[in-house]
Amino acid sequence: MRQSKYIYNFALDDVEGSKTLIHKLGGKGANLAEMCSLKIPVPPGFTISTEVCIYYLKNKKFPKGFKKSVLKSIKKIENKLDCKFGSNKRPLLFSVRSGARQSMPGMMETVLNVGLTSETLLGLIQQTKDEKFVYDSYRRLIMMYSDVVMEKANNINCGIRENFESIMTQKKKTLNIVNDSDLSINELKRLCKVFKKEVLINLNTEFPDDPYDQLWSTIKAVCVSWNGFRAKQYRKIENIPNDWGTAVTIQSMVFGNMGSQSATGVAFTRNPTNGRNQIYGEWLPNAQGEDVVAGIRTPFPINEASKNALTKHKETLEFKFPKIYNDLLSIKKTLEQHYRNMQDIEFTIQNGTLWMLQTRNGKRNGQAAIKISLELFESNLINQIEFCNSISPKQIEEVMHPYFNPEKERHAKILGAGLPAGPGCAVGRAVFSPEKAQAWSAKKKQVILVREETSPEDIHGMHVSNAIITSRGGMTSHAALVARGWGKCCVVGCSDMIIDYKSKKASIKNKTINEGDWISINGTSGTIYKDKLDLIETEIDKNEDFNKLFNILKRNQKIGVRANADNIQDAQKGLQMGAQGIGLCRTEHMFFDPDRINEMRKMIVFRNNIKMRRESVMQLLPLQELDFYSILKAMAPYPVTIRLLDPPLHEFLPQDNTQLKNLSELTGISIDTIQQTVIQLHENNPMLGHRGCRLGISYPEITEMQASAILNASAKLIKEGISPMPEIMIPLVSSINEFNHQKKLIKNCANIVEKKNKIKIDYKIGTMIELPRACLIADKIAASADFLSFGTNDLTQTTFGFSRDDVSGLLNHYNDNGILVKDPFQSLDIDGVGKLIEIAVQRSRSVNSKIKIGICGEHGGDPNSINFFKRKSFDYVSCSPFRVPIAILCSSK
Ligand code: PEP
Ligand code: MG
Repeated sequence: MRQSKYIYNFALDDVEGSKTLIHKLGGKGANLAEMCSLKIPVPPGFTISTEVCIYYLKNKKFPKGFKKSVLKSIKKIENKLDCKFGSNKRPLLFSVRSGARQSMPGMMETVLNVGLTSETLLGLIQQTKDEKFVYDSYRRLIMMYSDVVMEKANNINCGIRENFESIMTQKKKTLNIVNDSDLSINELKRLCKVFKKEVLINLNTEFPDDPYDQLWSTIKAVCVSWNGFRAKQYRKIENIPNDWGTAVTIQSMVFGNMGSQSATGVAFTRNPTNGRNQIYGEWLPNAQGEDVVAGIRTPFPINEASKNALTKHKETLEFKFPKIYNDLLSIKKTLEQHYRNMQDIEFTIQNGTLWMLQTRNGKRNGQAAIKISLELFESNLINQIEFCNSISPKQIEEVMHPYFNPEKERHAKILGAGLPAGPGCAVGRAVFSPEKAQAWSAKKKQVILVREETSPEDIHGMHVSNAIITSRGGMTSHAALVARGWGKCCVVGCSDMIIDYKSKKASIKNKTINEGDWISINGTSGTIYKDKLDLIETEIDKNEDFNKLFNILKRNQKIGVRANADNIQDAQKGLQMGAQGIGLCRTEHMFFDPDRINEMRKMIVFRNNIKMRRESVMQLLPLQELDFYSILKAMAPYPVTIRLLDPPLHEFLPQDNTQLKNLSELTGISIDTIQQTVIQLHENNPMLGHRGCRLGISYPEITEMQASAILNASAKLIKEGISPMPEIMIPLVSSINEFNHQKKLIKNCANIVEKKNKIKIDYKIGTMIELPRACLIADKIAASADFLSFGTNDLTQTTFGFSRDDVSGLLNHYNDNGILVKDPFQSLDIDGVGKLIEIAVQRSRSVNSKIKIGICGEHGGDPNSINFFKRKSFDYVSCSPFRVPIAILCSSK
């Protein structure tokens, strides 16, 4: 049997990888190989396939032949660079990095400077003549290796990293210096000694002094980090399969901390916040990569376009290294042409030479994503299909973020300011730990997480927070990257803020934020306000790029998108968002108006007196006519699907004593009798039973009144020269006789209205499919219905037997125990509910190929579910007005 290929070399004589192997090489490994093929300067190295990680996690050992292949690749690097791993003359050092198929920023481990030992250290000093740089690199290795390899990978929890950090902080305080790079050679030497002693005391073992020991253990630790707590949490949030595993990239080290001609930086090839076509990034002279993202030193701006209030006086890379900056500009061009996308890059300058360490598609916010994609499309770098695929539902959501009333914002009390890392506005109660954020959010409290800086360990708390504020870090710090990726409002680097975690307080100059205080954040300007400000929805119709985007998306739409709207305001909002009709106009809310509810209640309590009950219902006719008139008029010539009354009648009955007394006075019926009616009509599971079309069958005057109102309104509109498109929808049908009973009633009403007005009305009669039985007899229904609309909320409830209003606790438990991975009320259960839908679609189309099929449950706004409906050739999906743009996006992909 042929042995699997575990190792893929890059920047050696042979470039063995490419992006087609991303499942084996991870994003990082695949892109390094691609950069080599593009002749971009990359330090030589090799990537270990994800298969090795999966094998190691299962068998606790490396596969046969693996180590031999690694040694072979190391030999090649040694030959190319004329140095040797473990040599005391010209030592080769490695960076060992994780890299999954899908980016999981900061969730897994990296160790730099692997191979530095008491012997190789001397060789490196001899070679570089820079003792300070070598000891700085060694203390970094001890810090990272002890934490990642010796502590975390062995499941020990002794806080060695924090221990090191506090020793360093203490040392700098005593010496009265600010930056790590200000530590002298002797101080660094002393620190290395102290660190090694700490390792022995805390981890009960010597720091390894053999380069190969270090290398094999680091590879193992990176593999193990795939199953670390934060990586697992992140995968759960992002729906990344657990069996992918991580690749491990081993690359010869280049050093940004070799003195004043060395530096390190991270950048986006375009601005990730507003999409402008200018490099946007940060750099640090005399530093290694981790320094920029860790937020320990405030990074410098790469160019003028990257400056902000905090960094406006700092030196730019463009100024300090003009030639290298120009090289970066040409690399930007090459990469964008190649990937046809904006990139997020990492680079190091070692003694005046530029090396690229990473490239990947850059995370950007919604506004930037739209701008960048439009420019790439307009410059023919991507075609129309790629353009539609390049925008995600989340990014659309971001553009639609709420903002504060500008007048109120102007007068709001400012607590402080930082960098605008995640756009949009949010309000919430301040919390200072991710645990508190999670606990309060579980109790439905809105929270804003306030931290000095965030780390991947905090993601569970960050995820449930409305916004995140940090006192340290820059635009590429962990908090900024993660928040932007999630489209969350975020302000970082609020340097005036001092947080006291113990007393759960933060102070910004002389102002205090206590735990639980309401605060408001503007993530677009970077401002933090006292109290809770009013949020206003965005006016996306005034957003030019958004409008351009939707014109292109609509040209590609493969399935119609309608809005669920019960009133004129929602109908108009739906139109504004691009809906092509109303897929569900629920009528029950129309009965709760104070001037209507009493007639409804009278009808119910007179239920045994047909004359009285009819009289009460018919009082509602002119009011309902007005409702339908305004909605049909606003939507014409688009269709409006109006659902006849659906919920059980007890929902309309008085709940408190005053209401009971009022109704008693109004009807002359005693309070006792009314109470009896309430009890009799109450059902244990109100979402089943006597509701839907069953109401229209036992109270036909309801159907009669609603159908007449719809048809009268339509007749009036036709006479005014408007073309209404009413679709009358019968809810919760389980048998063909139910449907036909209601259809006959509606047709009678239509005949009367048409005769009276001497006109023909273009109306349709259809049904909701919300019950498994309805799916199974869909052929019978389709033979006499004009349209079917799947009510997937009820269909999910009735297929699972879950009560849709009470199931959340159980679903959480199911989710935690892996019994149900997704909430089926949010994302369609393709295997069960989906199967029933498939059967219904097949059966109905087999007898009526032209029947119009839609969906109006919550799943109509869920991207995964929309894909399913598209595959099943639905005519349209219908969802709440604010989800219409997302549905249009998904329908165009
Ligand atoms: C449904 O059941 O999917 C539906 C749209 O109706 P409602 O949510 O009003 O029951
Ligand atoms: Mg329903």
